[in-house]
Amino acid sequence: MVRTILKAKSAFGVFALVLAALLMPNSVTAKDKESNFITIGTGSVTGVYYPAGGSICHLLNRGRAEHGIRCSVESSSGSVENIENIISGNVDFGIVQSDTQYQAVNGVSAFTAAGPNDQLRAVMSLYYESFTLVARSDSGIKSLADLPGKRVNIGNNGSGQRGTMEIVMQAMGWSNDTFSEVHELKASEQSRALCDGTIDAMVYMVGHPNASIKEATALCDSVLIDVAGPEISNLVNEHEYYSYVSMPGSMYRGTSGETNSFGVGATLLTSINAAEDVVYELTKAVFENIEIFRELHPAFSMVDVEKMVSESLSAPLHPGALKYYREIGLIK
Ligand code: GLU
Repeated sequence: MVRTILKAKSAFGVFALVLAALLMPNSVTAKDKESNFITIGTGSVTGVYYPAGGSICHLLNRGRAEHGIRCSVESSSGSVENIENIISGNVDFGIVQSDTQYQAVNGVSAFTAAGPNDQLRAVMSLYYESFTLVARSDSGIKSLADLPGKRVNIGNNGSGQRGTMEIVMQAMGWSNDTFSEVHELKASEQSRALCDGTIDAMVYMVGHPNASIKEATALCDSVLIDVAGPEISNLVNEHEYYSYVSMPGSMYRGTSGETNSFGVGATLLTSINAAEDVVYELTKAVFENIEIFRELHPAFSMVDVEKMVSESLSAPLHPGALKYYREIGLIK
């Protein structure tokens, strides 16, 4: 099955403004010690995790008078760092890729040294992300197979795209030496590096549309490249947390046709230590206001309540989330 990343073309500028307004009061730099103060670890401010966390907090904070919970977001390096922060107790929740969630639960890939983890708990899955390859138009890169010999940003440590890029490289039989230069820039830095000519290509596992790819395609001539081939098909066929995704044409300047790739689910994760009533209230706030949630960002326009509880989750559901899903009959 091919998952389309977005239902309709939406006004990017409008949602960016609305979200900026929603997010500002919620951002914190240090974790508050108040017991009902919860933090969601997200990603780069130019990605979609940050507005996703902001949207969840916005919906939860609307009911503060009743439940007393105050929710805020923190920007981060991405999925791997979010899981590390959940485990260490630095954040209460984190948004993470479905492949990273699986790896952390089972103690593989970036989590081999840590070993399997039985403390992580799933809350819900949110929307689909696609492994997005963007190349400078003058780089000669027309497909994934053209990356060898080029200057490539493989992503920063702690990010989900770095983890997935390593899996793609392994599947393709590549190492760092395959590229003429390897860069480890953060998501927030790579679009500028692409446009100032420091790199030829960048990868980002992200929902669409987003500010980062918009920047990369607006500031210079660059295009989205299909990520396909037998190696990618094998990855999708062998792992249930991967699926084929397509990005509609004309979402970004310079790419008029549809782009095909593979992707993951963006999921909300917590730990067994999170209080049941807090997880219950958060889950309820999102599901009771799902129509509002869908409108807070075009990447959320297709979220489906059935899939949010059944897809992309490797960790067991947190009891607070499970309680709510049973109450509304989503889970028997
Ligand atoms: N998928 C990316 C990661 O796990 C983050 C994407 C985003 O911030 O929207 O690092």
